[in-house]
Amino acid sequence: MLNRRDFMKLGLGACLLPAVGCSRAEAVVSETMYVFGTLVGVDVLASDKAAARAAIADVSHAFTRQNRDWHAWKPGALGDLNRAIAAGRTHEVDDDLLPLLHQARDLARASGGLFNPAIGRLVGLWGFHNDEMPVGTPPHADAVAELVAAAPSMDDLVFDGSRVGSRNPQVQLDLGGHAKGVALNQALDRLATRGYADALVNLGGNLAVSGTRGGRPWRIGVRHPQGGHSDLRHSQNGGAIASLEVSGRMAVVTSGTYERYRQHGDRRYPHIIDPRSGQPATHVVSATVLHPDAARADVAATALVVAGAEAWPEVARSMGVSEVMLVDEAGRVQLTPGMAAKLEFVAPPASVTTVEIA
Ligand code: AMP
Ligand code: MG
Repeated sequence: MLNRRDFMKLGLGACLLPAVGCSRAEAVVSETMYVFGTLVGVDVLASDKAAARAAIADVSHAFTRQNRDWHAWKPGALGDLNRAIAAGRTHEVDDDLLPLLHQARDLARASGGLFNPAIGRLVGLWGFHNDEMPVGTPPHADAVAELVAAAPSMDDLVFDGSRVGSRNPQVQLDLGGHAKGVALNQALDRLATRGYADALVNLGGNLAVSGTRGGRPWRIGVRHPQGGHSDLRHSQNGGAIASLEVSGRMAVVTSGTYERYRQHGDRRYPHIIDPRSGQPATHVVSATVLHPDAARADVAATALVVAGAEAWPEVARSMGVSEVMLVDEAGRVQLTPGMAAKLEFVAPPASVTTVEIA
């Protein structure tokens, strides 16, 4: 999760190119807001600044609604459904949430269950259903084992039109690995509907772009997984492991074990949980996925962190993502040829291996 200072210093989402090439009447209109527990930036290319600001305000209101309705542990539409599931009841789900659940189920299947948004109880047990990062002793092994044995899965959900229930009362939905991607897609759709076909939306370092920045690609930084504050001072790209140029409809989503974790002594237990063991995923520090569909990119990034440094290519293939970069705990980088073609390293990593997944 980026704080305000990191975000500004990294210039994530800000086009690093000067605004040449934009038609004379057009300029980039940028707004930042705080939502989804992180800083959010929206840039659109527009000639009428006031109208662009109004469109961005619409996007911002939608983010606020989505954050409330799809929140993993605060009161809202998803919380209501979770309560019904725990009580063995079915529940009427609204038109915004229902497609998310179907999509989450399909993507969970495609990931072979490594992306499993039904494990909300495990995520909560590790202490991540809190605005503050948890500290202290990990949960008792028996409690973890009990939840793993209950095997909550998206396939436990029973859909009857817009009524949703679960065969398994241990299912607790947590869309933390998916909802931001959906929000990114919807933000670009919303802007396009209002006539803004050239836009960049940045949710705490997860980005989606459409069109170009005045005829040139959007240039974005991929945050260095171990990016300390010290190296942020030196350049605009400071704190970024690589930069990418993207145009058209494209999302760049990174999941990292450094983002949120439980600290106990010297040990950090990250917020991404392997549903098979109930333990936090520790061997991959980050996975970055490029895909036109930000929701798929978001889910795949989370699943690839769980898959780990050996199994990830197989999971990427089954999830239909081909532009991937993975950084392991030793700082070694693996990337697909598709990603290698688009990416430029800011500082040379410990090692770089190109991995074919097709
Ligand atoms: P992301 O930052 O997109 O990787 O999402 C991480 C969030 O997804 C966590 O904070 C949890 O809320 C949730 N989560 C953790 N582990 C998993 C998992 N294996 N499958 C689906 N969601 C998960
Ligand atoms: Mg994700």
